Order: sequence, then structure tokens, then C-alpha cells
Amino acid sequence: MFGMGELLGSVMAKKDKELALLDMASADLKSVDSDRRSEELVWAAEDQMRFGIELMDSKEITREQLEAAMWASAVNDDSIGQTLVLQGVLRQERLMTLMEKFDYAQISTAMQYNVPIDDVSILHRERVALFGMSSKTIYLACLGNQRLVRYHFETLFPKHSLEFLGIRPQQIEAFLSKTDRLPKNPEERSGSLDGRVEIQRFVPRQTDDSDVLDLIVNLAGIRGGSDIHIEPKAKSYSILVRINRIRRIIHEGPLAQYNTLRAQVKDRAKMDQMEHRRPQDGAYSQEILGRMFDLRVATFPIDGGYEKVVIRLLDPDKASKHLTELGIANVDDWRGACGYPHGLVIVAGKTNSGKSTTLISSLREQDRIGKSIYTIEDPIEHRVEFITQMAVNRAESVQLDFKAGVRAMMRGDPEIILVGEIRDEETAAVAVSAAESGHLVFSTLHAGTVRESISRLRGMKISDEMLRPMVRGILAQRLMRTICNHCRNKSGKGCPMCLHTGYGGMTVISEMGFFPSEGHFNRMLEGEVFWQSMVQDALDKLERGITDEKEVYRVFKSEIEYLNDDYEGVSDLAKRVLSVVKNDAPSAVERDDGIGMTEADLKALEQAEILQSALRRHSITGVSPMPMTPEVLLADPNRYGD
Ligand SMILES: [Zn+2]
Repeated sequence: MFGMGELLGSVMAKKDKELALLDMASADLKSVDSDRRSEELVWAAEDQMRFGIELMDSKEITREQLEAAMWASAVNDDSIGQTLVLQGVLRQERLMTLMEKFDYAQISTAMQYNVPIDDVSILHRERVALFGMSSKTIYLACLGNQRLVRYHFETLFPKHSLEFLGIRPQQIEAFLSKTDRLPKNPEERSGSLDGRVEIQRFVPRQTDDSDVLDLIVNLAGIRGGSDIHIEPKAKSYSILVRINRIRRIIHEGPLAQYNTLRAQVKDRAKMDQMEHRRPQDGAYSQEILGRMFDLRVATFPIDGGYEKVVIRLLDPDKASKHLTELGIANVDDWRGACGYPHGLVIVAGKTNSGKSTTLISSLREQDRIGKSIYTIEDPIEHRVEFITQMAVNRAESVQLDFKAGVRAMMRGDPEIILVGEIRDEETAAVAVSAAESGHLVFSTLHAGTVRESISRLRGMKISDEMLRPMVRGILAQRLMRTICNHCRNKSGKGCPMCLHTGYGGMTVISEMGFFPSEGHFNRMLEGEVFWQSMVQDALDKLERGITDEKEVYRVFKSEIEYLNDDYEGVSDLAKRVLSVVKNDAPSAVERDDGIGMTEADLKALEQAEILQSALRRHSITGVSPMPMTPEVLLADPNRYGD
């Protein structure tokens, strides 16, 4: 494995090459002594690495993320800081704040290509480059009329101060050549550019039907929505957004608008416009409030040539979650199971129980540079650098299923393998044989508990004898909503941040069967339960004030009713849940002050409000469907996701 020294060497070698090119290309640099400049570039690379190490020491990034960024930075034109933003590790604004804090000089190594202004022509006219924006300051460079540029930016961003930094003419050219590729027409300015650069749209004063897509995607992204459903009906169409598991209507528009919207989505996701009879899928990426989201689009043919369109938003912040942030109670055992050089580790759960997030966070923790890791997924949800990810493709001409995928990776010198889901005998057989032949195999199962997972595998002709020597761990999980951190003090009545539901996020509720030896597996077969059960985990989180009684009851209804009769010790909490739900007793969750709202929250809310009112103008009734109250939601359990 390479160390920091080799990486630094490689970064510097690349800077040297750049230097040679610069020498050939630029006349004004020829007068400068090339030895001195070479030294400057070595210093620059060292400074970047020092900054990277500072980020690592202050736990902003992991060593692995730094290494990955350094490798990428050695082959592209971006600094290490900028690469961390492009890889979704840091947000641009956070990067600028960290640079302000740790190494002010680094600010001039960043470049923000997505310029949050509607008219970028001023950048070209006045030869302006944008380094980035922190919460208070905009850092830019200008070789033209600085006074005019200052006026322009101060009008657009009255709360920020401007700071002009020095820049080489070549850097401005490089920056402008990237903004050059932006279509001039603002209406078209949202497609993916260069696979990564995207302008952040601010709401224009006058919007038309072609803006509706951007309005809803931005609105959903800002409010933490996971899916957007576009549903045509006989005389109008609805847009629904799933936020924190609950699907709600956010827009009702005319069918002509639906047609514009559908054509636009299919165009961006590179789907066949003329095909209305077959389901299709596609993808594109877009920046929302400084973060690059991946959008997966699927269409479903319905009557009359219409299609239902579903857009899944993959939030880079959620994708790069650390394993310890997910809420897995026994994360040390899980890490223990994932630490073996070979064997089988399984995440079990029903649909939408967060299995793939757990798996991808686990794979991120593996030594991605030292070990070769392959996945076959259906579909790929989160892309991870240094992992070879393949997507299942059932098309007649391709026929890449889980089995074919695993066969193919066997030729690619794999060490760690992820098989998206063990769902039939064939997949079970290839997963087990890969584990038997000395690989570490990760997979998921559609099962509710550790024990149920074993019987599911038996049902797919995987015997206990086959499993005993190789199964290292089974993590069974569900998702449960957590109390909103912003409004804990308001006795669960909710606030704008949680859309008045009182719940602000999700946590994993799990049980973890860890089998470090065959003996452990035998003990489980004999009926011993040597792990904390899932309902105990839920009650534990209730006691710690992470969730409340109603939510525990919603997720563990049958278990709670059962516990009340049988288990001493946990029955107090179970009784408390029952008395709140059945006798309308007040919740006993301790309500501290909550964190209230930060400046960033208020900014996001303000942005969402602007988007919402712009969207309202395109609504068929001129009003937007109101956010539902918590009472309505609780009365109808079907409104929750599964
Ligand atoms: Zn709240």
C-alpha cells in the first residue's frame, strides 16, 4: 500500500508536468525563473496536503477519504479541497469555512464552478472567477472592473462581504472555460455538465411550466424529500413528495404542464421520449443548495399514453453517513463480523428498512485502496470511489443478473463482494460458493429477524452445515423515526423543520447475531439468544429520548403487546408505551430545549418558501396543498411508508 509520501510525490510530479505545459503555453511566465517556480509548486502541493491532514486530524474527513481525494487530485485539475467537494465528502460552504479556520491561503486553490447567479455573462465580461462562498464571505477574483463586479454581487448577496484574491490569468481562463459550457439560455441551464458541474438555480421572477421541474426538485431536496411522484389523472396531475417516510401532495397542475414536465425529465435522464408503453429508467445529477444530488428516474406506463414518473433523490449527505451515525446498537459486533477476510455477512430487513445504506456505509469502512471490492446491485444507489459497482441489467441482449455478475467478478481478482440481495436459490448458491472460496461476501435478505434469516436461507437450499463455518454475522434492522431535534421542547407539536410532525429523522433499530466461532452458531441453533432483541433496542432508544411512545408502538405493535405479558424488566417501558397509546397518557419522553433553528436552517426554510410560492403560481387552483397536521397523519396509519 502507498503512504502519504508516495501520494505527495505523485501530486508533485503532476504539478511539475503542469508547470512544463504552462511554460510552453504562456509568454508572461517565461521571465520567471523556472527553478523557483518549480519550488513554489512543490510548496503548494505540500500546503494542500498539510491542509488535508489538518482536516483529518480534526475529524472532518477520514484518512481514507483524504487518500482518495489525493489520488483523484493527482489526475484531475482540482485541488484536494475541491476534490473533497466533488466527491461529496464536504460541502463547498463547509470547505470554505474550514479554509478560513485552518489555512486561509488555501482559499485561492478552490474553484466553485456552479455560480449561484442567473446571468453568468458578467463573469465573462469582467473576467471573474469564484473561489467559493462561506456563510459570511464570497471569495472571488476579477481582472476587469472590480467596482462593477462588487456592485453586482453585493446587490445579489447583501448578507455576504466580498473578498477579492489574486489569480493568474490562466486560472481565470480555466474557470471561464468551464462556465463556458453552460448553455446560454437560462431555461436550459440545469442539465448535467461535464458529469459534475451544474449551475444552482435561483428562482427567476417570471417562471413558466418549464421551471416546475426545478422548483419541485429543489423544494424536495431542501426539505429532505426522498422520492417525487408525478401522477397524471383524467383532468389534472398531482406531484407527491415523500419526506421522512410520509408521502404528501405538494402540487396539482394542468395536464399540459405534465406533458412539459415529463418531456423534460425524460430528456435529462436520457430516456426514450417516444416510448410510452414500456417502463423505463434513467438518471442525472443536479446540485441543490451546494450539494450534488443523484436523481434516479423511473417511468411506468398507464392509460391513455400517460406515464407515472418517479424521481428518487439521493442525498450525498445521507449516502456518506458514517456507520456509527446510523443508530446500529451493537456496531462493534457488526464491525467485528465485517472484519473477517472471508465469510458471509448479511443485513436482513423488509423493503425500505435502510439495508443498502448500512451495507454501503460498511463497505466505505473497508480498505478500499488495499482490497479489491466488487458489487452487483439492483440498482446502484450510492456510488463509492474505488469500488467496482455493477448494476443488474435484465435486457435480453445483456442478461446481467446477480449470478452472472458474481461469475464475472471472479475473473477480476475480488476480495470483497457485495451481492445486492439473496432472493432465490440461484443467488443463494453463488453467494455461498463465493464465501466458501475465500471471499468476504456481503448481502441482504428479505427477513425480519436473525432467526428468520436462517430459515429463509434454509428455504433456498442453504443448509445449516453450509452456513456454520462461514456465516460471520446477521444484522436484522428496521427504521424508526426520531424526535425532531429542533422542537423537542414543544411537547411534540412540531415545527416548520419537521413539517409539524414532531419527527425529524430516522434511526436504525436492530438485532445483531455475531458468530465469531462455529460454537456460537450451534448455540443459536439450540435456541439460545445471545443478542439484544430488536424491541429491546427500540425501548432502549425510547428511554434515551431518541424516539417517543407512539413511534415505538407504530413500529413494534405486536411485539409490545406480547412483551407486556411476558417479560419482566422491559415490561415497564412496554407498559408506558401502551398507556400513552391506549389511555392517552402524556408522553414521558424528557423534553429538553432542542437546538432551535440555525442560520442554515432558516436559510433553507426561506429558500423553500420562495420555491413554494413560485410553484403555487403554476398550480391549477392557485393554492398549494397544505402540509398535513400530525393529528391527521396519526389517524391514518396508511399514510406512513412501509
Ligand atoms: Zn420539529
